[in-house]
Amino acid sequence: MIYLDYQATTPLAPQAREAMLRWLDGPDGTGFGNPHSPHTMGRQSHAAIELARERVAGLFPPGGRVIFTGSATEAINLAIRGSAAGARAVSAIEHAAVRDTAGALGDAIQLPVSSAGIVDAEVPIAGNTSLVAVMQVNNEIGTIQPVERLAQRSAAMGALFLCDAVQGAGKLAPPLGADMIAVSAHKFHGPKGVGALWLRDGLKISPLITGGGQEQGIRSGTLSPALIAGMGAAAQLALERKDEDAAHVEHLWNRARECFSGWTLNGSETQRWHGNLNLRREGVDVARLMSDCRDVMFSAGSACASGSGRPSHVLKAIGLDDRQAKSSIRIGFGRYSTLDQIEEAASKINAAAAAQEV
Ligand code: PLP
Repeated sequence: MIYLDYQATTPLAPQAREAMLRWLDGPDGTGFGNPHSPHTMGRQSHAAIELARERVAGLFPPGGRVIFTGSATEAINLAIRGSAAGARAVSAIEHAAVRDTAGALGDAIQLPVSSAGIVDAEVPIAGNTSLVAVMQVNNEIGTIQPVERLAQRSAAMGALFLCDAVQGAGKLAPPLGADMIAVSAHKFHGPKGVGALWLRDGLKISPLITGGGQEQGIRSGTLSPALIAGMGAAAQLALERKDEDAAHVEHLWNRARECFSGWTLNGSETQRWHGNLNLRREGVDVARLMSDCRDVMFSAGSACASGSGRPSHVLKAIGLDDRQAKSSIRIGFGRYSTLDQIEEAASKINAAAAAQEV
């Protein structure tokens, strides 16, 4: 199996797995204490969570606090539903977690993107807007958005700025000027089922989940020391290896671009995270391609939209027609990917695509 779907999820780092084990103890161990219990085992679990909180804080700008959640989707729901009521503006290429949540609360204004897949930093935003949400890196086409300028403009007009940093966390510098930032551990080699919402100091939001008042009264429910310790270790590792990982990705990108020279790149070549190669080839039946290349894990459009039969809203937003959007694939690679994997996957995918053309 060749795994090239790093935007859907990433392999767990061995260091993150190791950090989790102690907190998965059975009856013979001492790591299973409830982190909210005042006894010794509870305090140990609590200390593991606080250590992880410090590590995860390294993914964000200074001057805020980290609230652990069960996913980035939950963090985004908490941010949108728990903060300002009123008009919301979201980019046309947001993940469903933002689009559908903002949409469920009333008509959200869409901020358009260019054909390169980038929101204009000076895009008009209505004066009555109370929340602006623009992602740092798009999950389908990898394009990097001018979030700092948009955050600055939002602040100047009195609106809150939410940044979905799920695909950028640990890879790019944190988005400065945001009021709220959402991340997900499994996108930076941590475990699935844990995310975080960062809140700028002084910002108050309302809880969605009430109960025991854990997580500073904002998100009730017993925390998972194992998942959170894994997230903390993964965050620390991502920050330590940021330059090394980026150099590795660049190396893979250069080779991947050569290997897939018969395909057209969707989205900007330069203003992009280079671990994301979204490509199209006229006339290719992507469902058939995927079934012909079963041992290569890649994606058609986004992992969430694939299977729905609907063309991706992101590819439509950059101006592709239905046929072009449906003949697009996403190859995603990162820290643990190798040149050999890229080359082998490309030769299989290219052969399968060429076979469709005869
Ligand atoms: N936002 C983006 C950009 C994503 O890529 C994803 C996951 O695909 C999410 C949000 C949701 O993250 P989670 O899986 O933690 O709910």
